[in-house]
Amino acid sequence: MTETQDPKLLWFNFLKIFTRALVQINLYKPDHPQVKLALEEGQALLAQIADSLSGGEFSITIDNDKLLVNGIALVAADKLPNSLKNLYSKFRIQTITFSPGVTGDDLLALAQVQAFKGEAKAFLKERGIEKITLNESVYAKVDAGQPQAAPAAAPAAQAAPAPGARSAAADERMAKKISEETLEVALATVVSRATPDADEQKRIMEILSAKFKEEILAEVKKAIEVVHREKKKVENDMVRAESVMTSMADGVVVVDKDGKILMMNPQAEAMSGPLAQLSGKKIVDLSQIENQVVSLAREIKSENKEDISREVTSLGSAELAETVKKATAIIQNEDGKIVGSVSMPTDAAKLKQVEKMQQEFIANMTHELRSPLTSIKAALEIMSRDSGGPGNAASGVLNTAIRNTERLNSIITDILDFSKLQSGKLVFHQESAAAEEVANEAVDSMKAWASSKGVNLLVRSGPGVLPVYADKRRTVQVLINLISNAIKFTPQGGTIEVSSDPGTDALAGFSFFSVKDNGCGIKKEDQGKIFEKFVQVASGEKVGGTGLGLAITKAMVVMQSGRITLESEPGRGSTFRVAMPVYKGQGEQPVFEQSPEVKEEAKPWWKKLLGL
Ligand code: ADP
Repeated sequence: MTETQDPKLLWFNFLKIFTRALVQINLYKPDHPQVKLALEEGQALLAQIADSLSGGEFSITIDNDKLLVNGIALVAADKLPNSLKNLYSKFRIQTITFSPGVTGDDLLALAQVQAFKGEAKAFLKERGIEKITLNESVYAKVDAGQPQAAPAAAPAAQAAPAPGARSAAADERMAKKISEETLEVALATVVSRATPDADEQKRIMEILSAKFKEEILAEVKKAIEVVHREKKKVENDMVRAESVMTSMADGVVVVDKDGKILMMNPQAEAMSGPLAQLSGKKIVDLSQIENQVVSLAREIKSENKEDISREVTSLGSAELAETVKKATAIIQNEDGKIVGSVSMPTDAAKLKQVEKMQQEFIANMTHELRSPLTSIKAALEIMSRDSGGPGNAASGVLNTAIRNTERLNSIITDILDFSKLQSGKLVFHQESAAAEEVANEAVDSMKAWASSKGVNLLVRSGPGVLPVYADKRRTVQVLINLISNAIKFTPQGGTIEVSSDPGTDALAGFSFFSVKDNGCGIKKEDQGKIFEKFVQVASGEKVGGTGLGLAITKAMVVMQSGRITLESEPGRGSTFRVAMPVYKGQGEQPVFEQSPEVKEEAKPWWKKLLGL
């Protein structure tokens, strides 16, 4: 070995010899010739190295994955022999610095450190070794609360930097770097700081990864168990709810807070179509259930249960709406917030069937009643004729019987007309009819009854009344109904005036009929109700009737594109006014705009009108 030798070769040779010494000291006693030889060679090489460095210090650092000599990378750490790597990693040494003048004994002490259980530094100090110094790694220093070591790659000139050379800013940078890395990379960074030994790093990483995995798996398992339990509970609840719903005889529809369909049982599907098609649709948008329940979204939105039942809206009849109101349950969550509702739509098909049967029954019944009544009346009239004329006692009795059969007949006519209207079977043949004639005909047929009750019945026709476009027979019947009411509710000595007039310009296109009486009149609050079916308002005087007369009358007027209005003052009398369209000529009859109540809904107007 000469002075001109490549310094790196000297370094390599020293590393080789020192590694050999590390191995041999484990095998032989310190005075074994092999050991002695290695130490001597090591000492000689160190002397040469010191010379090559002009008396400077010689430092060997293992940092991350490299071995550096005086800050110059020499070899990859994984290429180093284990004995050397273990010395660094076991004592968390980062750099070993050799000052000039290291002896063979100094080297022996360094080699013997590897078997020592305590601190390496203390071991060397105890033996008075001063020419070899150890710098523990940064993390070792931090852990020990000691001043920090020089950066791993510090050149030899800075081999003994001032404590704290690793600045707070550098720590900050590293903390930031770690925080930005993935867990695995961050761990690797930390581990590499803890030990430069690649094998050791690998081992620690494996241990840490296994630990992490184990703990995460345990946490995940715990969480999954909770989710499973919850899922099972929800599934059980659902199965229970579904089986209750399915086994119910009524159709059940569950909607969310916006009225969107969530669930339906087979019975509801049979009425409205399959759930697959309807799910998510708003219950109010379904034409299939137009006549069934419809608990509207607006009602569901209300936070107050009382309000909800009051606001339940149905597109079906009033009776149906009432049923639905009773069959709608509001679903609230644990906080009492409304999250949906369950409605049980009454089977509209069944209800309609029953309604139809009822109508048919009434039509047949009244028809059957009428035939014997006509025969009875005819027989009574014959008997009355044969009884010897007025003045005869029998004649008086017979006349009362005849009047009663007439009354009975008119009640039957009312019911029949009503059931025809209900089933849409009442047909109108509209043509030109002189208003005056219509009024006269109605008055003529009611005169006898008015005079028998001591009521004056007058007819008046104003000038310029245009003929009406009407079914004459039905329009006469309209006036007869109004006159008969007027007779019923006007006391003896009162007057009923039936007239026709052209009306005002504002109502051009109509001719008017009025039936005015000075009878008991109708209270303001009852005036809106009396056109409804089966409504009879208290009038003080007990009179017969069905409460159908005005409902039928109004239906007949509206069906001919006419209007009916009432003005009345209790105690002073009532005036019913009927407006009928003016006849415009054959084929010229305009299609009259239907009155508002008819336009309101698309369903047959007469159903709406009759509250069906
Ligand atoms: P009804 O066939 O029982 O007479 P309507 O529908 O014809 O039934 O009449 C309904 C109610 O309207 C009657 O019970 C009565 O109270 C009231 N009413 C109808 N017309 C008159 C009138 N001219 N004067 C006073 N009240 C009347």
